[in-house]
Amino acid sequence: MADSGGMSSERPSYDAAAIESARQEAWSESRAFDTPKPAEGQAAVYVKPSSPFTSGNLHMGHVRDYAIGDAYARFRRARGDAVLFGFGFDAFGLPAEMAAIERRIAPAEWVERCGERMLAQMKRLGFSFDYERAFYSSDEDQYRWSQWLFLTLLEAGLIYRDDTTVDWCDTCQTTLAALQVEDGRCWRCHNEVRLIRRPTWFLRVTPYLEENDRNLERFEDWDELSLAAQRYILGRTDGVELELQRADGRELTAFTPHAGAVAETSFVVLSPRHPEIEDWAAATDVGQQLDELRSGGWERSARDAAAVPVIETGESVELGGAELPVLVSPLVDARYGPTAALGIPSVDEADAAIAARVPSIVAGPSQGDSAGSDKGPAEVESEKSTAEVEAEVRKTRRYRAFDFSISRQRYWGTPIPVVHCEACGAVPVPMEDLPVRLPRDVEPTGEGNPLAERSDFVDVACPRCGGEARRETDTLDCHFDALWLWIPAAVPPEGRRDAMFTHPDLQRWLPSERLVAGNDSGGFVFDQRVVTKALRDIGPLEFLADGEPFSGCLFHEMVIADGRKMSKHLGNVVDPDELVSEYGADTVRLAVLYAAGPAKTLNWTDGALRFAKRFLHNTWQYAHEQIATAETAPQDAEAAADTAFMRERLGKWCENGVQRITGDIEALQMHKAVRNVTRLFERIQDFEKRVLKRRGALSRDDAEALLQALALLAQVLAPFAPHMAEELQAALGAAGRPWPGGGAEQEAVSPGGVAA
Ligand SMILES: [Zn+2]
Ligand SMILES: [Zn+2]
Repeated sequence: MADSGGMSSERPSYDAAAIESARQEAWSESRAFDTPKPAEGQAAVYVKPSSPFTSGNLHMGHVRDYAIGDAYARFRRARGDAVLFGFGFDAFGLPAEMAAIERRIAPAEWVERCGERMLAQMKRLGFSFDYERAFYSSDEDQYRWSQWLFLTLLEAGLIYRDDTTVDWCDTCQTTLAALQVEDGRCWRCHNEVRLIRRPTWFLRVTPYLEENDRNLERFEDWDELSLAAQRYILGRTDGVELELQRADGRELTAFTPHAGAVAETSFVVLSPRHPEIEDWAAATDVGQQLDELRSGGWERSARDAAAVPVIETGESVELGGAELPVLVSPLVDARYGPTAALGIPSVDEADAAIAARVPSIVAGPSQGDSAGSDKGPAEVESEKSTAEVEAEVRKTRRYRAFDFSISRQRYWGTPIPVVHCEACGAVPVPMEDLPVRLPRDVEPTGEGNPLAERSDFVDVACPRCGGEARRETDTLDCHFDALWLWIPAAVPPEGRRDAMFTHPDLQRWLPSERLVAGNDSGGFVFDQRVVTKALRDIGPLEFLADGEPFSGCLFHEMVIADGRKMSKHLGNVVDPDELVSEYGADTVRLAVLYAAGPAKTLNWTDGALRFAKRFLHNTWQYAHEQIATAETAPQDAEAAADTAFMRERLGKWCENGVQRITGDIEALQMHKAVRNVTRLFERIQDFEKRVLKRRGALSRDDAEALLQALALLAQVLAPFAPHMAEELQAALGAAGRPWPGGGAEQEAVSPGGVAA
């Protein structure tokens, strides 16, 4: 399709739409992005983009995410590595269910429509995914494995059932998620909601917090944003702990970050989730207060020490001869997790705020007021006691991260493979009976629980005793599906039904070499890291010795417009489709990459778009002019000798440029790489100007050196604007060349080598 312009000096105009459809057709025909089988010794690189929700529309944040990942995937392919670039849709969950309720259709139908549309958008943008490997978490062959994972973790003791507080709407007879509650009212009927306690399923993450923390030290290919997100979620606090004595001789281990001030402790405060909490809340009125606190939705305001609930248990412990009252408050959870903490008002503002609210607290002795003065017997005694207390402490740490609920009272999700039998209790569905199928012909209205109303779903024989039983009608939160959503792309579609977690290809592609995701993905990544360790210990992922799903990770910030988050309400939504049809995919991709580094919020303006458009137009036209010029450039030995030093310098510029661009891409700093590509183009034009100034015309040698340099430019532009760059490479007779600067290939493409 490449038209070099022949002998004509007419400038071929840059027609993005024609170029892009031709390239996309060629990629599709040659199956250019199929996942290859790596050859002996070839690096296998799995580039993992974020998994989109089936919302129906790609937004600019997706374009940013995939433009970065795609540039990296294309770069690694050009370097000769085997690349897997695949993803799946996060298709279960509340947004799809709410959209379906609004449109009065089945969520399954909505999800399918959305997915098809989004796949078409991705293809139009030229993202080099292996589309054959794309999948939906709501597909039966997918969610059967979510159920398998549930049963596997349940058996390992990593899933358990406990009560939790949820919002409930009496009118709609349903529980509500946070985003369905607006100012304390139901999103659907606008009646007031109330909090209720109900049993739910939890994922235990605590056994792996230490390891998740420790491994962060070894991560070399994780950027600062992604590391910071992991640290924030861990919520680690270093400090000391010690044993406190209760009057009946039992002990309580308590923690504080204030190692030097332990002797100044004036109370002890327990988390309501402390493992021994029932012992301390044994008194009737205390138990009642605890129940009230638990059903009061305290998690929403637990960080404010002045407002957070505090319960006095009436119990006390002894420390250094002093009696310390024992309190219960969720403030502990928000600070250190489900533990017991020393209250030291003299050094801790939050503790001081609590002390001010509880009259029974006597302020502890304050430190350092006896320096330089004569010590009386009381002070000597106090110092002795301080020394004794300090001697008892040992260094330790606490993590704020804690187990979380994984089940929801909703229709559109993975059915939980559990049956409730009056005689046997909660009985897991046997593995061989999976999947527990979700009825797909349901049109939820937002009222009640559609699954509970389907007797063909609910009524079932108990797998253990054969008696009458009821299926669990909670479904798994889509966060649970996401725990392993990075696995399926690494398994060929035909292997997924039977061997999702045991397929030999997993060992080839895992861990993923690079995850590229939005900065709000920290929670997903953290929990994926936990589950990887669990599956390593249980067996299937044993080959991942360090229990890490991603060896590298890049988080990027979001895309906003006019300095504000894009929203329909503000009327500032930038639609990628409109941009692509006006400017072409290459221009949009280049603009998104150029506009800001990944760690910065991208405030979208037309400036970057204009820049990208101009650059692509100029490069295209300039290259075609030079192709035409080269055909008529005369052989001239004398002129060639005179400009040899200029060609040599051009060669150096090219070499330098390639080196920089390569380094930028390796670090996924695509904005820098694009800038260096544009600089290289300026240098190439500069070479031509200088030769013309000196000689008035290009000799054949100069023209060829110029074309070589342009071929190199097209190569390093290809990860960012692949359609145009590949067409240009073809026009320059350089199609399919490997990435420059890599060993043996270097000489073949360096225009510096042309010197006489
Ligand atoms: Zn309602
Ligand atoms: Zn039974």
